[in-house]
Amino acid sequence: MNNIEKRIQNLRNELREHNYNYYVLDNATISDYDFDLKLNELQDLEEKHPEFFDANSPTQRVGGAVTKNFETIAHENRMYSLDNSYSKEDLQDWEKRIKKLVDGDIQYTCELKYDGASISLTYINGILNKAVTRGDGFQGDNVTANVKTIKSVPLQLKGDYPEKFDIRGEIVLPFDGFNKMNEERIEIGEEPYRNPRNTASGSLKLQDSAEVAKRPLECLLYNLTGNHLGINTQFEGLEIARQWGFKVPSAAKLCNSIDEVLEFIEQWDTERHNLPYETDGVVVKVNNLQQQEELGYTAKAPRWAMAYKFKSEQVSTRLNSISYQVGRTGAITPVANLEPVELAGTTVKRASLHNADQIEKLDVRVGDTVFVEKGGEIIPKILGVDLLKRLSDSQPTEYITSCPECGTELIRQEGEAQHYCPNYNGCKPQIIGRIQHYISRKAMDIEGLGGETVGLLVNEGLISNYSDLYELTREQIIPLERMAEKSADNMINGIDQSKNILFERVLYALGIRYVGETVAKKLAKHYKSIDAISAASNDDLINVDEIGTKIAESVHAFFSSEENLRILNRLKEFGVQLEMSAEELEGKTNILEGQSIVVSGVFESISRNELKKLIEDNGGKVSSSISSKTSYIVAGDKMGPSKKQKAESLDIIIIDEYQFLQKIDKN
Ligand code: AMP
Ligand code: ZN
Repeated sequence: MNNIEKRIQNLRNELREHNYNYYVLDNATISDYDFDLKLNELQDLEEKHPEFFDANSPTQRVGGAVTKNFETIAHENRMYSLDNSYSKEDLQDWEKRIKKLVDGDIQYTCELKYDGASISLTYINGILNKAVTRGDGFQGDNVTANVKTIKSVPLQLKGDYPEKFDIRGEIVLPFDGFNKMNEERIEIGEEPYRNPRNTASGSLKLQDSAEVAKRPLECLLYNLTGNHLGINTQFEGLEIARQWGFKVPSAAKLCNSIDEVLEFIEQWDTERHNLPYETDGVVVKVNNLQQQEELGYTAKAPRWAMAYKFKSEQVSTRLNSISYQVGRTGAITPVANLEPVELAGTTVKRASLHNADQIEKLDVRVGDTVFVEKGGEIIPKILGVDLLKRLSDSQPTEYITSCPECGTELIRQEGEAQHYCPNYNGCKPQIIGRIQHYISRKAMDIEGLGGETVGLLVNEGLISNYSDLYELTREQIIPLERMAEKSADNMINGIDQSKNILFERVLYALGIRYVGETVAKKLAKHYKSIDAISAASNDDLINVDEIGTKIAESVHAFFSSEENLRILNRLKEFGVQLEMSAEELEGKTNILEGQSIVVSGVFESISRNELKKLIEDNGGKVSSSISSKTSYIVAGDKMGPSKKQKAESLDIIIIDEYQFLQKIDKN
């Protein structure tokens, strides 16, 4: 092994260990900054030395592989469902039934029932071989590329593991991450996701694994299957899986009787609310594997296990009024104002009603007694109406037709759930929200200016759009409430600093509906300047990778507004970056410097010529024949057999188009 290969191996081992400590043990052993330094070093080395490519390297966690159609794979061992129980009596009946079928005392392993998407992972020689969804229990979808991006799933095991086995678990989306994803969706004018479970299972079926990598999913494991596992009980299985590097939650408990099981259930019925992810019950399993085998399966579920479902926490209370909020994009959200009530340890005063359809579907009316449930969302939801308590004179809810803030008549586009206030430039919450978005951390990151102050500045008439920020003076700011001279200077300074923010972030900061961070990056890279985007036709926009009609129309509409063009001109005059800087353009062109790359075959997402141009644009050299000097080969379908042979004999790495695109996209 030469020095470079050794360094690569060392970095991989080290990063793997830090990942394990952080994502599996929840115990960080390195700062984010130092972790990134090491990861960058590894990425650099791997890029310069594609001969040491390893699909299980920690750098591969960022995803990149795209799956167009998920392959169906049969489960070697069927993935069963579970029988449900809802009471002490149900569990006691179950115990009676199984006691007739097995000899000896029965111990139970109690685990929490995680509410997510079930998954079966296969490991061969300690390496993740495949990840398959439950599907119909007999066969599921191969979602390996996506699951690989989940950091708590080990790509390589530790310790003394069997040669081949399956492990089952649940992929969940913790509340924190879910809520953050929703904040971002709301910010770009998309409807929020309804619950963590559906979002988790939806994530597994995304085509672009790089998108999955951005979602904070976790994989909690609970069941080993296979031969010669070296375990006799379920509880041992959990412990040993933990030693191999899997994330196995610590709540599991070994119980000697159904009474002890009931204690566990009672304890966790309250304590589960402190967990970072959603659980909907307890799974009770006969601990001894020999006994499990004797008990066997019914047509749909194991006889040796029983799920106990927690009663979901519901209360009923009075709906006092419905109010309507106007978001930054003009989207209207109806909110139920409730008679305050205790639910799952918090006082609930408000619940989301989502949109007009939801109100109609539930037929909720002011004065109704409604059932409220708290799931994973920040604010609880209304499940339905207690019709027995409906007042005789109640009237169906009439959705508002004009904006509660500015009085403009609302519109609702075909196929959309939300009503909008179209008064883009005159509706206060839209004006304020747009400027707040502009200054936010991920956008222009303006220090010394907060969301509340923006409201103040707008209400005082000092600014009415984000370009006005650049004309603010100390003298205007100092008289404002709670403004010291020092803070005024900080604000002015922060605003001035924002002129250094890169174009792609400025584009995101503009707050064009549906243009989130990712889309802004795509557009910036493709068009390179605001003028080019502004001049692009709808059709032209749609041709950009990942830009659909909805986004294209929204972008086009933004640049069709005289007012927006005026504001953009002002930004340009003030020196805000509305095109890619020379460095940015150049920086993009030397990633492949010194590399000699061969292109072979037919590609799915790009033509051969485009691919060659990309190599040259990024500083690489396209070479037509394979030699020992070839850095690597980008191969599509139908790569010539002689080329393939030559590559193999010279030990030259072959990557596909997506891996290549990922390489040049990275910086
Ligand atoms: P159900 O879908 O209601 O039939 O419940 C069965 C599902 O519960 C399984 O397919 C698993 O995905 C899920 N589950 C969650 N936690 C556990 C656990 N600790 N043990 C077994 N299954 C679990
Ligand atoms: Zn309005």
